[in-house]
Amino acid sequence: MKRWKKVSLALLAVLILSQTPFIYRRYRLGRLHAAIESLNAQRAAAHDDAYTDYKGVLHVHSMLGGHSNGRFEDIVQAAHANNLAFVVMTEHPSAYVNTAEATLKGSHDGVLFLNGSEISAPGEVRLLVVPGIEPPGPDSNSFTAQDIITQATREGRLVFVAYPEQVRDWQLSGFDGMEVYNLYTNSQRVSYSRLFFDGLWSYWSYPELLFATIYEKPAANLKRWDEINAGGNRRAVAVAGNDAHANVGLSLRQLTGQPILELKLDPYERSFRLVRNHVLLEKGQTLDAESLTSALRQGHSFIAFDLFGDAGGFRFSAETTSEKKIMGDEITLPPGGGVRLTASVPVKGRLVFFKNGQVAHEERDAARKELLVNEPGVYRVEIYLDQLGRPLDAAPWIISNPIYVR
Ligand SMILES: [Zn+2]
Repeated sequence: MKRWKKVSLALLAVLILSQTPFIYRRYRLGRLHAAIESLNAQRAAAHDDAYTDYKGVLHVHSMLGGHSNGRFEDIVQAAHANNLAFVVMTEHPSAYVNTAEATLKGSHDGVLFLNGSEISAPGEVRLLVVPGIEPPGPDSNSFTAQDIITQATREGRLVFVAYPEQVRDWQLSGFDGMEVYNLYTNSQRVSYSRLFFDGLWSYWSYPELLFATIYEKPAANLKRWDEINAGGNRRAVAVAGNDAHANVGLSLRQLTGQPILELKLDPYERSFRLVRNHVLLEKGQTLDAESLTSALRQGHSFIAFDLFGDAGGFRFSAETTSEKKIMGDEITLPPGGGVRLTASVPVKGRLVFFKNGQVAHEERDAARKELLVNEPGVYRVEIYLDQLGRPLDAAPWIISNPIYVR
């Protein structure tokens, strides 16, 4: 064989070998796709109980505060296409416009919008405030995060601590909850070269399922959250943030602004499909700004990675001889008696019960589990879909808010 032929063959072999992991992952995504389809086909009929499940997303930016060129109409269309009931906007402030006032609010195309803001405070604290505010001082050193929390909650606003992994000092108190999962943070941890080749092989067939190759359990944030709740004097609701900007990708434009080529890796419609917050309202209650705010404040909600199967219908409740409560609530341990916790899911999974952050019980291959507890504590549930394989055997499909047994 000629020398150049040998060299070309060797190069070809190296090229094929280097692509093997990406080709293999494309094959696995194909299998995952089929498994999710069959899982969704096995869903049990919806519960006939006292609650209705509304799904929505939180932590969304438009072009208003910079960092994004997302248009209102893209956001409304994406929410509508995902059948979302609500979207919580969280705009960055601007020196020129009150972005929280200017952003989407009220009902658009059947979707309820809340107009929030994302405020930076000293100590790497970022707060999602709903309805939004303008920063209370000229620069972020003229106020503290605690000032904002105290003032905003006194005014009836919701306050969630975003990016909790960055917060240096956890003496903060009075906030409503924390963003235990942030889609943007998760995607930043992935190497671009890996994402590029995975994209090359899998993007055209499974653009959304590419998320399965990067999804990681937010273990450190969950631990922090459990510690705060188990401490006894603070209660924090867990939410997931999409942190949707629609700004990752490539865009070539004419001087008039007309796009020549646009390749977006995080369009709103895709982001809104991956992870959501489901809110439970009592049947007969209408979803409006007030009921949504109140349900989020009380933690009548759960986080679900709906991409892997619609989590609508999940319930986590507690019952004694005299009380019946749902996630987010407190329930009193009756003297000499216990509290019956019940978790149920629309498809079978692995149901993991936590007490003060420690695994208290694990039930495999089950759609429902009742657990009788006789001790006070903060109880919550994570649901895993082991049958879907990696990463769903190690990263949760559903994260409930806790029930506080006092
Ligand atoms: Zn943000």
